[in-house]
Amino acid sequence: MLFSLCSSRFYAYATWQILVKLLIFDIDGTLTHLDGATSRAFASAFERLFHVENSCTRVPMHGRTDPVIFMDYFERNGLQGNWQEAYAQFCVAYIEVLPQFIAATPMARLHSGVPELLHELERRRESAALALGTGNMEAGARKKIGHFDLNRYFPVGGFGDSHHERSGIMRDAVRNAEAYYQTVFDPSECWVIGDTIYDIEGGKALGLKTLGVATGGAFSAEQLHASGADVVFEDLSDTVAVLTAFGVL
Ligand SMILES: [Mg+2]
Repeated sequence: MLFSLCSSRFYAYATWQILVKLLIFDIDGTLTHLDGATSRAFASAFERLFHVENSCTRVPMHGRTDPVIFMDYFERNGLQGNWQEAYAQFCVAYIEVLPQFIAATPMARLHSGVPELLHELERRRESAALALGTGNMEAGARKKIGHFDLNRYFPVGGFGDSHHERSGIMRDAVRNAEAYYQTVFDPSECWVIGDTIYDIEGGKALGLKTLGVATGGAFSAEQLHASGADVVFEDLSDTVAVLTAFGVL
């Protein structure tokens, strides 16, 4: 069994271009600026579902997964019982209201350079495969980037649905991308692109390359550098520089 698994992976290596890179993008603060729509949708769904007024909303969200944020909400608002069961109910309510909150947020936008970068990467799809790597539940992630018609760029990814740790999300992103693209990615050819030190740490834990971008507001370029990012940009607006960093210009 082990031999057949290894040989099938080798066969994939032998029949596909092994120099294909995998670029794993975070969403919040990296691709998108939703100007608080996520936390407002979170609070709205939570309050409606659990009949809580003026929920304690000072729950940090940067770099955390949806289940962890929910667990924090659950505890800070004094709810009792099984939070996992409550979370399953919450997901349905949250996904229902999230698009409305994004649509009602005039400042919701893509970060500078993102459309141009994705367009150029699409043109290089023979050498650069794309995936998501986000703490969002997948349904939430799809609603967020769907608002900007970006789902077509990201057929696959790793999500926060069942993970508390960033490294688990990144591992899923690589595995799911390998299954989707029918290839094996060399870790040294995989990049994690994110705005928090947690993205950087999660990527490094798996031996992946990391690109930090300081557009999320929670971490400066210096902090992203200090966390060990291979490359750091203030934003993604210099398309040529970013493509050069990835080695796909
Ligand atoms: Mg982020």
